[in-house]
Amino acid sequence: MLNPGGRGKSILPALIVHGGAWDIPEHLQQDSIEGCRKATRRGWEVLTLGGSAVDAVEAAVRVLEDDPTFDAGQGAVLTCAGAIELDAIIMDGSDLNLGAVIGVQRVRNPVTLARVVMTESEHAILAGEGAEAFAKRSGLDLVPNSGFAVEREKQRWQAKRAEGQPREDLSKGHPGDTVGAVALDLSGHLAVATSTGGTFYKHPGRVGDSPLVGCGAYADDWSGAVSATGRGESLMRVVISKSVCDLMYRGMTAQEAADAGIGLLARRTPGQGGLIVLGKRGDIGIAHNTPYLAHAYVKGNEIIGGVLKIPDGRHT
Ligand code: ASP
Repeated sequence: MLNPGGRGKSILPALIVHGGAWDIPEHLQQDSIEGCRKATRRGWEVLTLGGSAVDAVEAAVRVLEDDPTFDAGQGAVLTCAGAIELDAIIMDGSDLNLGAVIGVQRVRNPVTLARVVMTESEHAILAGEGAEAFAKRSGLDLVPNSGFAVEREKQRWQAKRAEGQPREDLSKGHPGDTVGAVALDLSGHLAVATSTGGTFYKHPGRVGDSPLVGCGAYADDWSGAVSATGRGESLMRVVISKSVCDLMYRGMTAQEAADAGIGLLARRTPGQGGLIVLGKRGDIGIAHNTPYLAHAYVKGNEIIGGVLKIPDGRHT
C-alpha cells in the first residue's frame, strides 16, 4: 500500500454504502442486500485501482441511483403531485469542498451533477431548473421525469391518493431508502455522497436533510465521514452528520460517534434514522434506530456485504 503524507503506517482503504434505514418489507430485502453489495464492489474496485475517495463514493452511489430498488434516481418515490424530485450531495474531506443539487427532475445521476457543481462551478449548491440547465451545459444525461418512476412507486402513489392525506405520525414507520457511501482512499482522504428522492408523497419543493451539508452528509479528513438516512425533518434538527464528525474530532471512535448520533436523534427528535460512519483511519461505525439499515462495507480486503441490521440490534 502507498504511504502518502508520511503518516508512518500504510493506509488501508475503507468503504461503506447504505441503501436506507426503514422498515424494509420482506419482498425488498434481498434486492436491497444485492444492491448494496453491487455498489460496494464498484466503489472498492475504484479505490483499489488508486481512485480517490470522491471517485469511489460517486461510483458507488451511481450504481445505487441506477438500481430501481432504492429511493434515488431510478425507483425514487413520487411527490404528492406525482412527480419525482431528486436531491444529492458529495463532499471531499481533503479540502471540505462540496457540491449539492436540490429538486432536480431530469438528471439521470444527481450525484454526478453534485460532483460537477463541486468541481466545475463557483457555487456549492444548485437547485431546480438552474441545476438542470447547468447539467445540460455540462453534458450530463438528462431523462424524462416519468422515466424514473417504477411500477412499485406508481402503485403506492395511487393507493395513497385513494386513501386521502392523513397527517403522518413521524414516530411511526419510515419514509424510504435513500442511498449513500463513505470512503477512505489510499492517500488517506475521506469523502461522502448521499442521494435521494426524499420522502414518499412529500409536498412539491420539500427538501430533506440529504443535500444539506452537515445533515445528510459530512466529510473532513481531520475527523471522519458520515452519510445519514431517515426522517429528514428530524435529522436536520441535530445536524447529525457534522455532529457525529465533531464527536470523532474530540476522540470518539466511529462506532461510538455513530451510536451517540443516533442516541441524540432518538432523545431530541420524533424521527428515526441510520448512519454509516468512517473514522479518519478507516474505523467503521454503523447505527440505526429504525428496524433495518441496508448496508455493506469493506475493510482490509474483506467485503462484508449486504447486511440489513447491525449485529447486536442496538437502537432497534
Ligand atoms: N433522509 C431522506 C429525506 O428526508 C429520506 C431517507 O433517508 O429515506 O429526504
